[in-house]
Amino acid sequence: MMNLGAEKTPGGETVANILLVDDQPARLLTYRAILEPLGHNLIEVNSGLQALEALMKQDFAVVLLDVKMPGMDGFETAALIHDHPRFETIPIIFVTGVHVTEFDRLKGYKAGAIDYVYIPVVPEILRSKVAVLIELDRRRRELTAVNKQLGESNRALEEANSALQLEKTRQLEEINGHLQKANEDLSRTNASLETEIRERIRAENSLKEAVVKRDEFLAMLSHELRNPLSPLRNASHMLMQGETQDPKIVWSRGVIARQLKHMIRLVDDLLDVSRIARGKIVLLSEPVAIKDVVGAAVETVQPLLESKRQQLVVDAADETLLVRLAQIVGNLLHNAAKYTGDGGEITLTASGAAGRALIVVRDTGIGIPPESIPHIFELFTQIPSERASTSGGLGIGLALVRALVELHGGEIRAESKGQDQGSEFIVSLPLLVPDAPAAITDSTTKPEGTMQVRRNILIADDNQDALESLALMLRMEGHEVVCASDGEEALALAGQRRPEIVVLDVGMPKLDGCEVARRIRAESWGRGAILVALTGWGQDVDRRRSREAGFDMHLVKPVDPATLCDMLVTQ
Ligand code: ADP
Repeated sequence: MMNLGAEKTPGGETVANILLVDDQPARLLTYRAILEPLGHNLIEVNSGLQALEALMKQDFAVVLLDVKMPGMDGFETAALIHDHPRFETIPIIFVTGVHVTEFDRLKGYKAGAIDYVYIPVVPEILRSKVAVLIELDRRRRELTAVNKQLGESNRALEEANSALQLEKTRQLEEINGHLQKANEDLSRTNASLETEIRERIRAENSLKEAVVKRDEFLAMLSHELRNPLSPLRNASHMLMQGETQDPKIVWSRGVIARQLKHMIRLVDDLLDVSRIARGKIVLLSEPVAIKDVVGAAVETVQPLLESKRQQLVVDAADETLLVRLAQIVGNLLHNAAKYTGDGGEITLTASGAAGRALIVVRDTGIGIPPESIPHIFELFTQIPSERASTSGGLGIGLALVRALVELHGGEIRAESKGQDQGSEFIVSLPLLVPDAPAAITDSTTKPEGTMQVRRNILIADDNQDALESLALMLRMEGHEVVCASDGEEALALAGQRRPEIVVLDVGMPKLDGCEVARRIRAESWGRGAILVALTGWGQDVDRRRSREAGFDMHLVKPVDPATLCDMLVTQ
């Protein structure tokens, strides 16, 4: 290798090795004399072979090579030198005594000669040529070193890059791993949420189903309860008519009548609640006068008020409404009386202003705790406490009132200052426009002398108790009554007796009430008869069906016997 140590020439360059090859010692001396001032290391050999040997031992910056040598001449030596991969770029200066031909010059270049010097050697020329070649060699070596360094740096960079790449890949993989895990967690949460939602929907559906079933059951139950209530009511009515002084009997029939009334009221409410719940409530299509309805409602609670020695103050306006007001006011009054102690006071005011009727029922009773007020209008809600000795309700009265009020575009609210502070129920309802046709009948006025009218009546009902009790009751009123237990029998009896009034249960075996009515109407004698349908069904469609069959009246069970009697004799 070239000595790149600290050894320097007088010119400050790094000392380089120069190989001088010549078979003539004198010429070697000349070269030395010329080149020594450069300060480089001069090594002398006498033949091409020795030159090759010297090259194998150390590095040279330049070779000065005599062309004409015995044995291996300069060209051959140069060719061998450049054949070796280590020396292929080494600069060679040929020294020749004769003028070389162009051919020889070419030969020299092919062998890798860089330059020629001619004998006699001009010292400056040789020195400067050698100096230039040494400089060139130095730069070449530096370039190689820089290249090598660059190569190393590149490699290091590549390594660093690939390390960076690896780190990046690792980080990305890590992030990916986290993301994947988060995704999996999310899908797990999603799946459990979906399951939860599915379960909730299922639960909601079964709840809805249960509510529908409950309402259907309520409808059926209340309807079924009405049937036995009908004959019971008739029987009770008859008991009340009977003349007796026996205090036990008087007391017993009073109990039966009152409790029966209460039960009928509960069943009515129950039926209405179930109808409202199923969206099947029948809206009253005729206008009603507040005063009349309030009067009728008051009548229904009168016995309760009297039994508790309560005072009822009524102030009702002269307005007209289109609502089932009697039921609303009746229920509120009933509650007021029920939840007010003996001797308490109940006030009912019904006024009209600004297109709305305001009905207020106030009592001096047990009051309502503030936290319960929002719940009292909910179905089956009863305020749990020891406070009400007067219980026995079903918790449907207020739910029904609110449903009816809202159904008619009104509002209801309750107020109470708390325990034993009394309660107030305020209902607001739209009034009917003043010039609306007022088809109002005064239900309180009874026609004079009605009891004297004696009618020829046929009653048909497959419920034997209902049939017999109604017949008995009508007979007691002085009417002539025949009975039938099914449609066919009713039709046959009607043909024979030609009754003025025919009361037909609609749901009868063999021939139903509607069919019997149709056939009676088809007879010449039957056209003038008064036909009364008696049924547990009171919807608009039921009423229409009976009207179409030819009935004059449609009464819903349980029929109040007194009302029925009144109606029959006024026809
Ligand atoms: P209930 O059949 O129990 O009377 P309601 O729906 O009519 O059912 O009333 C619901 C509850 O509201 C009652 O149980 C009662 O506790 C309370 N309530 C209703 N009216 C009054 C009132 N005037 N005074 C005090 N509490 C009342």
